[in-house]
Amino acid sequence: MSYQMYRDKVLEFVEGHEKWRSSTINLIASENVTSPSTVRAIASGFMHKYAEGWPKQRYYQGCKYVDEVELIGVDLFCKLFRSDFADLRPISGTNANQAAFFGLTEAGDKAIVLHTSHGGHISHMPFGAAGMRGLEVHTWPFDNDEFNIDVEKAAQMIRELEPKIVVFGGSLFPFPHPVKELAPVAKEVGAFVMYDAAHVLGLIGGGQFQDPLREGADVITSSTHKTFPGPQGGVILYKDLGEATAKLQWAIFPGVLSNHHLHHMAGKVVTAAEMLEFGKAYAEQVVKNAKALAEAMAEEGFKVIGEDKGYTKSHQVIVDVSELHEAGGGWAAPLLEEAGIILNKNLLPWDPLEKVNAPSGLRIGVQEMTRVGMMEDDMKEIARFMRRVLLDKEDPKKVEKDVFEFRKQFQKVYYSFDYGLPMKE
Ligand SMILES: *Cc1c(COP(=O)(O)O)cnc(C)c1O
Repeated sequence: MSYQMYRDKVLEFVEGHEKWRSSTINLIASENVTSPSTVRAIASGFMHKYAEGWPKQRYYQGCKYVDEVELIGVDLFCKLFRSDFADLRPISGTNANQAAFFGLTEAGDKAIVLHTSHGGHISHMPFGAAGMRGLEVHTWPFDNDEFNIDVEKAAQMIRELEPKIVVFGGSLFPFPHPVKELAPVAKEVGAFVMYDAAHVLGLIGGGQFQDPLREGADVITSSTHKTFPGPQGGVILYKDLGEATAKLQWAIFPGVLSNHHLHHMAGKVVTAAEMLEFGKAYAEQVVKNAKALAEAMAEEGFKVIGEDKGYTKSHQVIVDVSELHEAGGGWAAPLLEEAGIILNKNLLPWDPLEKVNAPSGLRIGVQEMTRVGMMEDDMKEIARFMRRVLLDKEDPKKVEKDVFEFRKQFQKVYYSFDYGLPMKE
């Protein structure tokens, strides 16, 4: 027996995954698909390089092509997000957050963040990057009815605690956070305003959702692979932070990374060019599709969150399935997977943490299906598939056949230079 068998198996599974994924309806809110051009940049010799430091001031030789790409990238990201500085080096959203916490705060400083049970990200929490920085982590007061940070109580909290940093943004994120309202209060006490845009970066780039830097944020940290449809990676966008600018840059390198995965860096740059060209059309369609899916699901009989606020202003639709089964999302998500519909169960803000495996919610994101060309009418079809599985209790394997058939029409990655805009019939 030779080890070649394992090589074969890996390649077989990779191919199997790709074939299966492109036949399913993927609604994981934190994922997306990249264009062929972005794939080409990632699957390149850039993956074999090191380029520590800044373009043209590297610690290693051999960077002349890499430098050109990174310089274009910094320009394009600054243009797309109207920021003073862009750093493409963080290799993930969490890595970007680590760098921001280390660059902008000292151990023992106070931070106010969104609690994970209200949709915040683990890296903001005491057991995540913020805690590892030694921050004293406090969490925003949350208004369950508004599905948002409670502005009045939050303002009071900022004035009482005088934190060094306040953090907006989250992973369960249907409505914009009150940055405009709270950034001036944070400034009163001299706090940095950080906005974690991991989920909504593509919407911000396309002029939808909210514009954190114009609303008072100093720094945006983000992943580059959720609504921003690039390769897995991270980015930091920031204003001139005075003395803290250099500290932040040092925190990124050599603080929390050395090599910055240059093939992914190149992929981010290709995606930024796509976003400058097609981002507005893409982001508008994402939000329209999310609204259309929420409305269609409500019509089919699902309990969709946020009806009085128009259900959603982002790529996300949040559904409460606790009345359908005692295990809630823990029951619904695996059943939908059997029908070729991929999404995740999610705690809702009022769920106790013990319900993590049987939470009330489903979190749905429409960005990937938008990118492959789906429109509002296709969202109605998706809502019907979900009704058949979860409400009519039809055999999921039977629904899967129809899902696969439906999905065959959507095999190109639009809003890209490769395929342009999708045709609306
Ligand atoms: C996904 C996410 C991150 C982490 O991103 P990675 O790229 O997976 O490290 C950070 N913050 C928020 C709000 C997220 O949703």
